[in-house]
Amino acid sequence: MTTRIDGEAVAADVRDSLTDSIAELEADGVTPGLATVLMSDDPASETYVSMKQRDCAEVGIDSTHVEIDPDAPAEALYETIDDLNTDPDVHGILVQMPVPEHVDERRVLRRIDPIKDVDGFHPENVGRLVAGDDRYRPCTPHGVQKLLAAYDIDTDGADAVIVGRSNIVGKPLANLLVQKAADGNATVTVCHSHTEDLAEKTRSADIVVAAAGIPEFIDAGMIREGATVVDVGINRVDADTEKGYELVGDVDHDSVSGTAGALTPVPGGVGPMTRAMLLYNTVDAAGLQTDTDVSLP
Ligand code: NAP
Repeated sequence: MTTRIDGEAVAADVRDSLTDSIAELEADGVTPGLATVLMSDDPASETYVSMKQRDCAEVGIDSTHVEIDPDAPAEALYETIDDLNTDPDVHGILVQMPVPEHVDERRVLRRIDPIKDVDGFHPENVGRLVAGDDRYRPCTPHGVQKLLAAYDIDTDGADAVIVGRSNIVGKPLANLLVQKAADGNATVTVCHSHTEDLAEKTRSADIVVAAAGIPEFIDAGMIREGATVVDVGINRVDADTEKGYELVGDVDHDSVSGTAGALTPVPGGVGPMTRAMLLYNTVDAAGLQTDTDVSLP
């Protein structure tokens, strides 16, 4: 029997608790503010940004949005970031990725004031996370940790295998799970496209995190009986639906169900947690920047 890890429900709990955190800030005259910046006309990016704004409105975070013509010079984006860095009503800045090719993504990440870097991708915040002195945990890895905790899936002493080593998912999650901490203390293996005998490695794991961006790549033959499987993947595949596609994860759910002890669905698993943890970081950022104590879930 495979337990379905309900990311929608856990994310709703996080949002509920954040409403209380925001009330604490409001009592001290602080309204948390998130600025989203979009330099793209990709419909998926537009959707992601509007979902983030909706999430903010739902819990009581002020959101502002800046759109920059994707053909504008890179300076337009850098200057927008500079303005937001000095705006006292903005506690978090999120530049929706990907940016156009003529814009240097790493320069964008470095330009955001680290105290407003609610994505947690600025090198200062990455370094702090690696050193076990994290300020803002990147939203997807943090969401994975919260999901595991919500279902009492112990990482302490567990063998965790992460498939994928991106800067936004695989690497930060590996760094979090390996920390000497109650929600860490795992023995972590990070796999990638050059890994040999991938299935042998995933089969040895108590916890498998799939973040390769390959539809339904992980099947039951790669999973040990009873292991926890976290499917981070969100892949569009052609389908006979109104939109002409459907979203599937990196895990073959039909295959793995019955073998895994617990499994996150797609959609409804890690995705909602990523969104909730952005709100969490924005509330945290508002407290830090206004020197206001705020309790976080
Ligand atoms: P990414 O930057 O494309 O990284 C993919 C990683 O998978 C790379 O490290 C790559 O290895 C590795 N990989 C590719 N083929 C592999 C193979 N055959 N065997 C083992 N490893 C392989 O992707 P990402 O941004 O981390 O995203 C991963 C997936 O998660 C995507 O589907 C994305 O849409 C989804 N995602 C979901 C959320 C959420 O909120 N649920 C958030 C972020 C991302 P190399 O490094 O060697 O190339």
